[in-house]
Amino acid sequence: MKTLVFILICLLMIQCHKNNWTSSEKNIIETQSPVLRVLTVNNVADSICLRKKSIPLSPDEINSNLYKQLAAKMIATVTSPEQDGVGIAGPQVGINRRVVAVQRFDKTEKPFVVYPNIRIIAKRGDVERGPEGCLSVPGRRGEVMRYKDIVISYTSPFTLRDTTENILGFTAVIFQHEIDHLDGILYTDKLSE
Ligand code: ZN
Repeated sequence: MKTLVFILICLLMIQCHKNNWTSSEKNIIETQSPVLRVLTVNNVADSICLRKKSIPLSPDEINSNLYKQLAAKMIATVTSPEQDGVGIAGPQVGINRRVVAVQRFDKTEKPFVVYPNIRIIAKRGDVERGPEGCLSVPGRRGEVMRYKDIVISYTSPFTLRDTTENILGFTAVIFQHEIDHLDGILYTDKLSE
């Protein structure tokens, strides 16, 4: 009996880590093209999604075609002429998953890179004040205190293993802003005097 319960729990746990894209997520990713609609605080339903805590992506989900489409469309959206941003997070396109696209100003080509299951594992040095805006808060700017030296951890979409990286300067600020989105936090919550 105990063995049976153990096997059932194991099966349940395996099931939980498989492809669990919801029909709403599939609908957004597959039907919105070529760019995704960016949610804003001006819309009540959008605000609920922007304030929700996002959930991680399983290795199977990161390995899926749907994830590849989402990653490509997040980059297409943030780089589109109407948005022209430096970063975007899952909730901003109606996907409450822990995924962000960030422009790597610290690399020569300044590429946009998508990071699943992103989190900050270390913050170093002092915070510095700097100007910020957000695609989901149209027409506003404000100053926020951020670290300029952080260590990020994410699941590599290639190896599906946890990867860490040290990020410096303005790129570190973008990471902090986008990762806040995954916990339902907007930069306007953190405006400094
Ligand atoms: Zn933002």
